[in-house]
Amino acid sequence: MTTTFSRSDTPTTLRAKAWSAARAQTDELLDGELGVDDSSRLATETIRLAERALASVAPRAIEKPETIGWQVPACKAGCHYCCRQQIHVTLPEVFALADHIQACWPEGRQQALRKKLRVAAEKSRSLDRDAYFAAYIPCPLLDGEGKCGAYAVRPLLCRAYNSLDVEACKLAAKNAHKPAYLRGIRANGAMHGIMDGAFGGLKESLLNAGLQAFHPNLVDALDQALSDPSLKEQWRGGRQVFR
Ligand code: SF4
Repeated sequence: MTTTFSRSDTPTTLRAKAWSAARAQTDELLDGELGVDDSSRLATETIRLAERALASVAPRAIEKPETIGWQVPACKAGCHYCCRQQIHVTLPEVFALADHIQACWPEGRQQALRKKLRVAAEKSRSLDRDAYFAAYIPCPLLDGEGKCGAYAVRPLLCRAYNSLDVEACKLAAKNAHKPAYLRGIRANGAMHGIMDGAFGGLKESLLNAGLQAFHPNLVDALDQALSDPSLKEQWRGGRQVFR
């Protein structure tokens, strides 16, 4: 059954709908003939579902969206104050990033990324969420212009994160060791709810299928996936392969 997302839904309702739609879709994909090399599809299909849900509630064609109560995020290409946080990811999202990088990035850029990932993973592995932001480690996927180098397949929780006020992001960056600034950033709740719900549904379906579902540190997980291509097959076989 297709889930309908409505502009009149609250962020909590949107989150719950995205959660159950993503879980049902992932259950179906896992029940079908999904090959090992298609594992990243579990993520890309969830991203597609969540983006469709967002498009159905976001007033893209309306000239002044604020007049109908839509809170317009201040996020712009090249603004990357937030790309210094600990990102939770499901493992199919990690495989989607790895596949994208291996297919689209030139070899030299991939090698440079591997080095940056290794350094960032070692620095961040033992940090909790607050200590991670305090360390202010830039995501190794950022390019020279401060844009996400894997934007098309960026994780769901990167998509969830948004801010209504760039000045609040600057303050949080300046006070990275004071978590209250980061927590105080106001966001578009509908956008956050849909992406966060889709993440939750995907994760729950993977857990129910007995698969290692997620990793608390995007940088560390991507470092592992790019270092050992056999992890995908082992993961699909039900092994807890990510440290
Ligand atoms: S994956 Fe992309 S959007 Fe997410 S933190 Fe890294 S650079 Fe930012």
